Parts: sequence; C-alpha cells; structure tokens
Amino acid sequence: MPAIFWFRRDLRLQDNEALNKAAEHDGGSVQPVYLLSSTDFAALEGIRQHSLVESLRSLDGDVSGALTIISESGWHAAAERLASLATSTGAKYVFATRAFDPAGIAEQNVVGLALKAQGIFLDLTGSYYAVTPGCVAKPDGSPYRVYTPFFKAWFELAHYARPLVLPPNASFHRLAHSELPTPTKRAPFKVVAGEAFARRTFERFKSRALANYHEARDRADMSGTSHLSHALAFGEIHPRTLLAQLGDSDGHNVYRKEIAWREFYADVLWHNPHTTTEYYDSKYARMRYDSGTEADTRLAAWQQGKTGFPMVDAGMRQLLATGWMHNRVRMIVASFLVKDLHIEWQHGAEWFERHLSDFDPASNAHGWQWTAGCGTDASPYFRVFNPITQGLKFDPNGDYVRKYIPELAHIDGAAVHEPWLLLDGLSGGYVAPIVDHSVEREEALARLAELKASGA
Ligand code: FAD
Repeated sequence: MPAIFWFRRDLRLQDNEALNKAAEHDGGSVQPVYLLSSTDFAALEGIRQHSLVESLRSLDGDVSGALTIISESGWHAAAERLASLATSTGAKYVFATRAFDPAGIAEQNVVGLALKAQGIFLDLTGSYYAVTPGCVAKPDGSPYRVYTPFFKAWFELAHYARPLVLPPNASFHRLAHSELPTPTKRAPFKVVAGEAFARRTFERFKSRALANYHEARDRADMSGTSHLSHALAFGEIHPRTLLAQLGDSDGHNVYRKEIAWREFYADVLWHNPHTTTEYYDSKYARMRYDSGTEADTRLAAWQQGKTGFPMVDAGMRQLLATGWMHNRVRMIVASFLVKDLHIEWQHGAEWFERHLSDFDPASNAHGWQWTAGCGTDASPYFRVFNPITQGLKFDPNGDYVRKYIPELAHIDGAAVHEPWLLLDGLSGGYVAPIVDHSVEREEALARLAELKASGA
C-alpha cells in the first residue's frame, strides 16, 4: 500500500516523526508531496518567495528529485488534486505533521475532507515543536499565561524529547511530474536554505557563538545569535535536534529558554486562535490609537526606515534588505510603532508577515503583542522603549546603524544614534525625527491613563 507524505512546515528528512511513520507504513517506500496555493505564493514578497523555493529545491535534492509539488490556485483545488493522485495509486493513507496554528489547521481540514471523500485517511502525527502545543498545563489543567512557569513545566517534558532518525530503508518515489514554483518577484540577494544548510548553521553557531550567547544575543552589531529562525519556521531542523545538543552552561541555558519562547507562543496561539489578529488582553482594543492620513504617512515612514530614529530605521531597512531583523531591534521598532506613533500593532505584524523570511504566526503575533503591552507576560504597556538609549546600549559603536543607513556613514562611533546633535549630522540626506520621543512617550502614558479611567 503506497505511503504518501505531505511535507508542510517540516521540510526535512531527519527527526521527522510523521515522515518516519510514513516510511514504516510501506517498508520504507514514500511518495513525497508539497501543496502550494499559487495565489498565496504570488502574494508573497520576493525574499519569502525565494526562501520557499530554495527550501523546496533543497528538499527535492534530498529526496533524489522525487518531490511532487501540487500547485493550484487555492487550497481546495490543491487538496482535490492530491486526493485524485492518491486515489490513482490506491493509497489509503496520506501522512503529515499536525499543525496547531489557525492557517495550518484550516489547511489540514481542507485536505483531510478532500481525502476522506475518496476514502483516504489523513494521518496527522507530531508537531513543529519539542512539546506539542496544548500538552503543557497548570496543575488545574488550564493553560499558562505567563512564560516563566510555562518554561518550568515545559522543561520537564522537553527534557525527554529525543531526536529521531529516518529509517535507513526509506526510499522516495515520484507521484507525478511537477516543477518548482517560479518566483515572480526579485530577492535582493541569493537565498540559501535547506536541511543541510540548517545543520551547518547550527554547527557554526555552536562552535562560534553558543558559549557566549547569553551575553551577545542582545547586541545588534554582533552575530551572537543562531540565525536559525527561518530553518525552524520552515521545519528544516526540528527543535528536538537543537535541544538535544545543549548542556548546562549559561549560554546553553539561555538558548534553551529562547527555543522555549517559540513553544510558549505556539501554545498560547493554540489556546487563543483569535490572537493572530485580535488582542490577547482585550481591554487594549479600546485604547485610543491613531488612524487617517497622518498616521498612514507615519506608518509608511516606519515601513521604509525613514523615521529619523537611526536604530528604528536600521532595523526596518535590515528587514527589507535581508528578510530578517535582530530580536532586540524587532522589540525597538515594534515599541516605536505602537507607543511613539500610536499605531495598532496589527499594522506592524502585517508588515513583518510580508517581509520576514522566518515569519511564524505565533511568534510574530505574540512578539508584537508582548512588545505592545497587550500580550502575555510582564511587559506592561507603560514600558516604552527609548530608541536612542536602546541604540547606545545594543549598538554601542554605531556599526549596525551605519551598515544599514548609508546616509549616516560619515558619522563615527556612537554619535550616529543622535545625528541631529551634530552640525553635519543630516548632511548625508538622512531625515530629521518625525516625532519627539519624550512627547510621544507622555502621550502613550496619557492614553493608558485614559483607558484605565474608562474602567477598562
Ligand atoms: P536566536 O536568538 O538564535 O534564537 C533561537 C531560536 O529561538 C529562534 O530561531 C526562534 O525560533 C526562537 N526564539 C528566539 N527568540 C524568540 C522570541 N522572542 N519569541 C519566539 N521565539 C524566539 N520569530 C520568528 O521565528 N518568526 C517571527 O515571525 C517573529 N516575529 C517577531 C516579531 C516581534 C515584534 C518580535 C519582538 C519577535 C519576533 N520573533 C519572531 C522572535 C525573534 O525575534 C526571532 O525568533 C529571532 O530574532 C530569530 O533570530 P535567531 O534565529 O538568530 O534567534
């Protein structure tokens, strides 16, 4: 009985629970497929299109050219085609990893129903996480709303997660002829992706930066983090594989905690599927935010890295140039949008979704909500990041800013964070600040007081 495996955000062969199950079903023989909505693909920005194509190209190489890409205008049509191809082979099962985010759940529902109509069962196993969302609970069975106690309970379970090895007799066979999707937009650089690249990236990180991760991870001007977020988002490496190689030093422990943030947010989204677009703490939906022409102009300046605040602009330009942004800078730009420009977090999250090659529905929505002060945990709304002091602290020599803002290349050292203080600071064509941070900070706090006074 042929085993069809539907690759999703798990584009790897090793440490893949659902793929192992497929391989065990038919003596190792697997027919790998990938489903693509061409409409969704066309809507992606260039970096995201190229990232996906390179991940698929690498996977196709790993399965000896046997990957069948089913590309249709939407999920229903792709599911119908998979069902008819599966019927033609006499398959009774399609295997896949279970998704826990709203879009992933919707996709597996559509595919499951189309297969069921043909008498074929969609067998969902495993997850994209070391601990499956929904499995970590308080003693009374309710989900955690705060990270630290979640981490403690999660660690008890994650501790036992061991990487899996693909059965040695696994072999891959093509279901139907197909082509890789062709990007319709350009990427600003050549994207490299895939399982082997993810493993090499982790090896390099382990040998060069992991021991010092706890100290360097917040520095925007250093390469102190693993840059594995794209690989984790596409499933080119499973968190189990990473966790199994961590020891007990400060660097290793902090890295484990960051992996656990990804798992926490997946758990939170699983319990609160509306929070990809709606407020986790609903009272903040009643906050006074700005909209209209002036807000749109400010939003556009933020998107293009033209706010006049060097640390914010460097981050936004890093995003456009590379499809990635340093975590500390993500927090700085997010705080700036919500608390200096008074624009709702969803506008920022949407922009990130369009441009981040590591876009993840849970980490993005909850990274935004945490910074905006309406999410989980202890980042209260009244905490307003100062983009200048943050820049001085996390890019102390100004190298990060100069790298992404050529108009400021003539300024040496940390002075680049306040170019308006220098006589020739704006001579390279860099814009003056579009707002006064101290005024907007007071405004944000006044709006919070207003919300509280309203009884929220
Ligand atoms: P490392 O520091 O090496 O961390 C290792 C891994 O741990 C990361 O790859 C990631 O999977 C996970 N991780 C680390 N920090 C966090 C965190 N704060 N929250 C959740 N997971 C974390 N991450 C995404 O993967 N996709 C997103 O769409 C995304 N959007 C974000 C939006 C905002 C506003 C903020 C503040 C954070 C967002 N993050 C997102 C989290 C974090 O910024 C990135 O995971 C991190 O910068 C990726 O770089 P890295 O792989 O070098 O991280």
